[in-house]
Amino acid sequence: MEEKATEEEVRKVIQKVEEVGFKAHPDKGENHTIVGVVGEGDREYILNNIETYSGVERVVEITQPFKLASRTFKPKDSIYDIGGIKIGGKNFLTIAGPCAVESKEQVLETARFLKEKGVKFLRGGAYKPRTSPYSFQGLKEEGLKILKEVREEIGLKIVTEVMDTREVELVSKYADVLQIGARNMQNFSLLKEVGKLNKPVLLKRGLSATYKEFLMAAEYIISEGNSRVILCERGIRTFMDETRNTLDISAIPVIKRYSHLPIIIDPSHASGDWRYVAPLSKAAVAAGADGLIIEVHPDPQNALSDGKQSLNFDQFSELMEQIKAILDIDSKILA
Ligand code: PEP
Ligand code: MN
Repeated sequence: MEEKATEEEVRKVIQKVEEVGFKAHPDKGENHTIVGVVGEGDREYILNNIETYSGVERVVEITQPFKLASRTFKPKDSIYDIGGIKIGGKNFLTIAGPCAVESKEQVLETARFLKEKGVKFLRGGAYKPRTSPYSFQGLKEEGLKILKEVREEIGLKIVTEVMDTREVELVSKYADVLQIGARNMQNFSLLKEVGKLNKPVLLKRGLSATYKEFLMAAEYIISEGNSRVILCERGIRTFMDETRNTLDISAIPVIKRYSHLPIIIDPSHASGDWRYVAPLSKAAVAAGADGLIIEVHPDPQNALSDGKQSLNFDQFSELMEQIKAILDIDSKILA
């Protein structure tokens, strides 16, 4: 829409878009409102006639299969407000915490430490997708309750995974950001379910997903109405067997080229080894990532899951100092 388009003009366009069969996704930007037109409908009408409506600046056809996630739809970086904290753009997001919620003491100790370090988002899985059914599966609802108590005591925002459509309602009561794990990136029912919520979603890239598949997964969520998707590259499956996965740094510039969505890096699951977490984090920051999600544990040697790749408090402190130095060069703001 034109910069000076009135709300009435926007409303009329939306009405027409829906009348000819499409779904309208208005996005109110700083200067312009963009009306996304998706689904099945009278394409010819939109392409030929909508530009004649008053207030319409131009009609742009998005040729990529991902529409609402694409930069053609929204040329500027998406910036979200999560409970007063800005994500995306010049804001650098740090999420840290244990792989799994193990006990109140463990989460509390970690949260206290992270808060002192200026971190605002605490991660911790209550539902854990484990490769083996015999491994620790998470504390489930009890784990969610622990996260809630810690949030109330310490004040960090909670990032936690939801694995199943049947648990979306429950987990969303406790989480500030819902995490969709790599193994669930193409669980379309789950994507649609979290797409109906008014809660940001951290979407992890599947182990063997292409960029297009990754952005199409985001599109599933956004097309249901939830536009606050944060992408996360967490390493892909390759022939390398020293590291748990291979961190695909290219994902940062490529995704940024095609999409306005923020993308953060998970160096912990990408490498599977605490020794590689700091160098990969620094590479990600230098490559323009919008943030990091890092596993931190008070006692990695005795962690119930992913201890091998978790940083202890001293290691995390040291890394944060190094990251701040790189961010200063890029004049980014630590969120
Ligand atoms: C996690 O972050 O705890 C996790 C299980 O990650 P991923 O889905 O990337 O394997
Ligand atoms: Mn983990």
